Amino acid sequence: MNFFLSLFFPPKCPYCSKVIFRNETECPDCRIQFPSDAKIKKLPSEDICIAPFAYDSQVRKAILDFKYHSVVFNAESFSKAIFNSVRSQTGESDIDIITYVPMSKRSRKKRGYNQAEILAEKLAGISSKPCLQLLDKTKKNRIQHELNAEDRAKNVIGVYSPTDSEMIRDKSILIVDDICTTGSTLSECCRVLRQSGAKKVLCAAIAIADA
Ligand SMILES: [Zn+2]
Repeated sequence: MNFFLSLFFPPKCPYCSKVIFRNETECPDCRIQFPSDAKIKKLPSEDICIAPFAYDSQVRKAILDFKYHSVVFNAESFSKAIFNSVRSQTGESDIDIITYVPMSKRSRKKRGYNQAEILAEKLAGISSKPCLQLLDKTKKNRIQHELNAEDRAKNVIGVYSPTDSEMIRDKSILIVDDICTTGSTLSECCRVLRQSGAKKVLCAAIAIADA
């Protein structure tokens, strides 16, 4: 964060809103409450999604601030937590490329940013791996969280396409999203990546929500 700006707007803990030091990403009281084990969800496509948090209480608030109220600073804490849980499960050396669930051009323009892309970029920075956009959202669909599980699964089919299959072929790919609920979106992304020749696909999110 810009030094002068941070004098007037000191960073706040994403989870409890307490003012924190500039070199911190969350307050020590919240950090100490982070779950010690990663959450793991098996997706409909049989792929695995790893996340540091369950989607509840303060974590939910921090994600909503990040997603809908432009509190992009929260990504610093989220990406570190995601990095630690992925590393605890896999060993990061397995991954060649980090990518993210894309938004349609129109939705991205409306929000001004893609929260999954920000997470992927931060993760790439922490792990020294490249962050590349490997998928495009080429078909408009209905908003996932307004649908039931069955409709969510149907709603994402054929919505994503590869940006460049050459970049995907034979690569081990980590794909990032903000929240994993039914896992339909990530499942479909995994399917498209695999169809384009990916060697291995793993998913990560900030939190896993009950479907
Ligand atoms: Zn806190």
